[in-house]
Amino acid sequence: MHSLHSDGSLSVEELVARVAERGVRLMALTDHDNTAGIVEAQQKAAQRGIGLIPGVEVSSEWSGIGIHIVGLGIDIHNRELQRGLARIMEFRDWRAAEISRLLAVAGMPGAEEGARRLAGSRMVGRTHFARWLKDTGHCQDNAEAFQRWLGRGQVAYVPSDWIPMSEAVDWIRQSGGIAVVAHPGRYKLSGSRLRALCEEFRAAGGGAIEVSSGSQGAADREHLGRLAQQLDLAASLGSDFHGPEIGHAEIGQIFPLPEGVQPVWERLGYADFSLH
Ligand code: AMP
Ligand code: MN
Repeated sequence: MHSLHSDGSLSVEELVARVAERGVRLMALTDHDNTAGIVEAQQKAAQRGIGLIPGVEVSSEWSGIGIHIVGLGIDIHNRELQRGLARIMEFRDWRAAEISRLLAVAGMPGAEEGARRLAGSRMVGRTHFARWLKDTGHCQDNAEAFQRWLGRGQVAYVPSDWIPMSEAVDWIRQSGGIAVVAHPGRYKLSGSRLRALCEEFRAAGGGAIEVSSGSQGAADREHLGRLAQQLDLAASLGSDFHGPEIGHAEIGQIFPLPEGVQPVWERLGYADFSLH
């Protein structure tokens, strides 16, 4: 799940309250490229008897495409991890200024300031720019903001310079966590490319793939479950919740894992939370 510390719309406190309301007993906070919300999430979750897996969703690159690698069960005080995340946040800051410059050239000044105001925390992403573009009347919705301005090849597209996927896996492992390929169904890869990605991920030390996710189709579960089993990777499940008004799934509203896969939370010491 995501909070205001990245592109979610709820504070950590609101997020944990909603998790409790929805009757969910185990959650992972996985903000993009930073762990600023984890300590508070641990406190708030403990008060409500909810299991909290400290996490992060690292922006990385494999074979020229952006791949999100989730780290679960990380030690947020690990130096390698924090040094790596700081590098990504620096790139994000630079890129925000660059996106803003390109939008200004195209007649839309003030974008960085606007996006930062919406972001509310240090992490600024393209979805904050998309919201600003919508709020200022430059487009109708998030999808159009990407189609016209922010998406690959568009006016304000800045080629992403994310770290290689294997490095993201490495930092997560060094911090004691398990690396997970986030929403593999969203990268629009052919079956053989997806397998190549997962094989390389596994060789780099990756431990699981996201089999059931609020941000990918329910139909993806079967083949992703089989892929996980074939490659001896564990399976994760999550809503990828970003906020009540933001697109996809609600907290706790996710399809169960297919039979036969190993739930990643069992490898993290939360076997008691298994649903089957
Ligand atoms: P960033 O990490 O700042 O580059 O932002 C990536 C996020 O932008 C993704 O996680 C999506 O939520 C969103 N996004 C990327 N491409 C599109 C697109 N074509 N349409 C809508 N949202 C997109
Ligand atoms: Mn993601």
